[in-house]
Amino acid sequence: MEFLRPATWQEALAAKAEHPTAVPIAGGTDVMVEINFDHRRPDHLLDLNRIAELEEWETGEDTVRLGASVPYSRIMAGLRTELPGLALASHTVASPQIRNRGGVGGNLGTASPAGDAHPALLAGGGAVEAESVRGSRLIPIDDFYTGVKRNALAPDELIRAVHLKKATGPQQFSKVGTRNAMVIAVCAFGIALHPDTRTVRTGIGSAAPTPIRAKAAEEFLTAAMDEAGLWDSGKPVPPAVAKQFAVLVSGAANPIDDVRGTASYRRHALGVMARRTLGWTWQQYRDEQGSKSCA
Ligand SMILES: Cc1cc2nc3c(=O)[nH]c(=O)nc-3n(C[C@H](O)[C@H](O)[C@H](O)COP(=O)(O)OP(=O)(O)OC[C@H]3O[C@@H](n4cnc5c(N)ncnc54)[C@H](O)[C@@H]3O)c2cc1C
Repeated sequence: MEFLRPATWQEALAAKAEHPTAVPIAGGTDVMVEINFDHRRPDHLLDLNRIAELEEWETGEDTVRLGASVPYSRIMAGLRTELPGLALASHTVASPQIRNRGGVGGNLGTASPAGDAHPALLAGGGAVEAESVRGSRLIPIDDFYTGVKRNALAPDELIRAVHLKKATGPQQFSKVGTRNAMVIAVCAFGIALHPDTRTVRTGIGSAAPTPIRAKAAEEFLTAAMDEAGLWDSGKPVPPAVAKQFAVLVSGAANPIDDVRGTASYRRHALGVMARRTLGWTWQQYRDEQGSKSCA
């Protein structure tokens, strides 16, 4: 196995063009497990750790451009306001050691349906910045996941960053596991309220071949809230609306039975998480509206 250690982003892109089967390694928290268990034996490893800009982020007016290798611990510490859903999801990843090494670029590279960043990325909205020597492109997050552990990257492309919409309203992330830490999700759910567009977006993890949005649930809730004038009145979401939202989130899932849980448990748990996270985010929205009108 050859170890390629580019010192710059341009050198990394050139190395990937020359060796398209080279496996990039960032935090290594997925790659090293696969190599140690002999699930993978690549000819070349492409070490991205000398490329400082991958560990930085830039905050614009409406978006955050998050470098592919920014570790979860720094997202939790520094981007809680801009990206609350992703910061909450980052909290649930593994242990402090893994959170100090692993990042969103690696989660996207692996594209496991159980990756914790995905529901938050889908709910928050954004795009993956992929680059090769041929140029750069933005892949909308909805188009990024193409199959079980497969993504839309071309063989010569690397992830430079993720462009994420700054939160304009409350966001939540919820994960069911068999214990509180160091656990791969049995299933997970992300929700983001977007008061600027008066819409709601969701993300489901570990309950379909890829991370997905519950689009019918989003459309139902967005329409129901609009019709009842809830964004203006700040009144509670009627229980029947919350219940139907939960039913539609459950119905969006396409889970399997496996060692971590059954398909029917996953569907049930998603409905519970959908109802609870809607309640938490809506209450936060109401509190914020209340404090604005008092100010
Ligand atoms: C003990 C343990 C517990 C874990 N628990 C969780 C958990 O709770 N939740 C969770 O979501 N994950 C968990 N993981 C998995 C892992 O930590 C995450 O997927 C993490 O986000 C991977 O990031 P990384 O930087 O370490 O990626 P790496 O291992 O370096 O890379 C992962 C994949 O992404 C590719 N890649 C990396 N960077 C780029 C890039 N810039 N461009 C293109 N491809 C790239 C690699 O080639 C590889 O295919 C766990 C892992 C371990 C070992």
